[in-house]
Amino acid sequence: MSTLSSELKDLEELTSNAKQIQDDVLEEILKVNANTEYLRRFLHGSFDKELFQKNVPVVSYEDVKPYLERVANGEPSNVISGEPITNFLLSSGTTGGTQKIFPVNNKFFEKVVFIDALRASIISKHINGVKQGKVMMFISTRPSSSTRSGLPVDPLMTSFVRSSYFKNWSSKRFTSPDEVILCVDNKQSMYCHLLCGLVQREEVVSMAATFASSLVQAITFLETHWKELCDNIRSGHVSEWITDISCKESVSAILGGSNLELADLIEQECIKKSWEGIITRLWPNIKSIQGVVTGQMSQYIPILEFYSNKLPLISPYYASSETIFGVNVNPLCKPQDVSYTFMPNMSYFEFITIDGGNNGEIVDLVNVKIGCSYEVLVTNHFGLYRYRMGDILQVTGFYNSAPQFRFVRRKNVVLSVQMEATTEEDLLKALNHASLVLESAGLMLMGFTCSSDISTLPGHYVLYWEIKANNANSIVKLDDKVMVECCCVVEKSLDILYRSFRSKYGSIGALEVRVVQQGTFDSLMEYCISKGASASQYKTPICINSPEVLAILDDKVHARFFSDRLPPL
Ligand code: AMP
Repeated sequence: MSTLSSELKDLEELTSNAKQIQDDVLEEILKVNANTEYLRRFLHGSFDKELFQKNVPVVSYEDVKPYLERVANGEPSNVISGEPITNFLLSSGTTGGTQKIFPVNNKFFEKVVFIDALRASIISKHINGVKQGKVMMFISTRPSSSTRSGLPVDPLMTSFVRSSYFKNWSSKRFTSPDEVILCVDNKQSMYCHLLCGLVQREEVVSMAATFASSLVQAITFLETHWKELCDNIRSGHVSEWITDISCKESVSAILGGSNLELADLIEQECIKKSWEGIITRLWPNIKSIQGVVTGQMSQYIPILEFYSNKLPLISPYYASSETIFGVNVNPLCKPQDVSYTFMPNMSYFEFITIDGGNNGEIVDLVNVKIGCSYEVLVTNHFGLYRYRMGDILQVTGFYNSAPQFRFVRRKNVVLSVQMEATTEEDLLKALNHASLVLESAGLMLMGFTCSSDISTLPGHYVLYWEIKANNANSIVKLDDKVMVECCCVVEKSLDILYRSFRSKYGSIGALEVRVVQQGTFDSLMEYCISKGASASQYKTPICINSPEVLAILDDKVHARFFSDRLPPL
């Protein structure tokens, strides 16, 4: 009988005692923080759970922003937190046009280390030999910035790799040396990640990034740089434009000198017409691909499956700048079926019932019900109390006494030109249907976003698509019939309210697909990063409202198609 690793023992213990651990976590948080300026108003120094649930208000970012900003601007941490705040995490979420920031300290990084060790143990329980090889990990780092009071403000991953926890964590597990991970020029680090990964191709057992979009980006980058990468391997010299000295030196050491045979081998694979299965062809011992593929990342599942010959695609955890929520204890399940088991030691979690129970009622972690949907509330160790995450989750089951959740959608991400509210989930579902039509024509969707266009009336939905041929070298040929069919399929998949406004009342116009040039979504990302978005956490927005960003997209449109019939009711 095999013995359980200490992480798997922890998993059993934590999930078996979820209620007690949640109560303990809340008590610990309140004992430390009851005398902060924020909580004192509601609790008067008490750390009683009932009083907490009765008196402490449920809040959104706007409510707590003034408190967080005071600490960021130099007031003592105990405005919100009993323990010193040492860092702020920059979230991908925004409010009023600016990015949200969340206070943390080393305790947060300890939790990251814990969850990552748990992830690794769960995966190695399901896939033999993953602990022996190396991970080709696409992490990028942003140049540092700080609050007015001098505290570092970085996205989660950047903050973590700059912390003292990173060195032990990374030590030799990755194909890339730390210098590449710490390089703040994203293009140079991406190039070096790939070069290191190719040189150590036999050792690579997994390819990973925080989000699936970064994995797709890495393969797209490889498509445009493989010749140069092969030249470097052939000559034994790293390209001149890699100017980050420590990055270059560490990569040169891995390159080790000229390797003609390897360069020829990589070239033979990359030169082939189709890039189907390119990942398994270039990395013959790879056993899994890891990155979040749920929520808005689900649009990348077909592309990754195409490139990887359907290797296990593992969505390992659900985490945010506010807290880590949980892990996927069933890593080999289909990407569409992923649920996350909440870890009761991460934060104190409560749930606002959205659908399936007494709507609006707030329940504890262990009291959620299978099939019901909730918005999750977080009370963490760093100054957030009953904070609305805006993520909607549905309970799919329990692991011991800890509930498992499917990520349904981010709240309020909607398209609407009338009273209908099209959610992210509606759009992704419709897109999956349209992808099948594209696939049958040998095409793939590489990037997607949308907006509502009410410049002409009736208003209509506009979907921006970047399309690619399945065969890497063939030119995209857009067939009118196929594209119009895609528009109709999307409309048919949208909800009854949309279809009523469109077919019955005529108050929504025909849905439009605008096909943009290759590389448009990369330009969009570069633009967003230039405006302060984080490269490692970047996600293409599902919907775009900013006229400035829409102008960038519209500039790249090379074909337009409209649905030519009304969707059935
Ligand atoms: P950030 O604050 O930038 O770290 O982004 C956190 C947000 O990303 C979460 O609130 C979710 O909306 C989304 N997210 C993170 N992990 C997942 C996941 N596993 N599945 C779906 N969405 C996720």
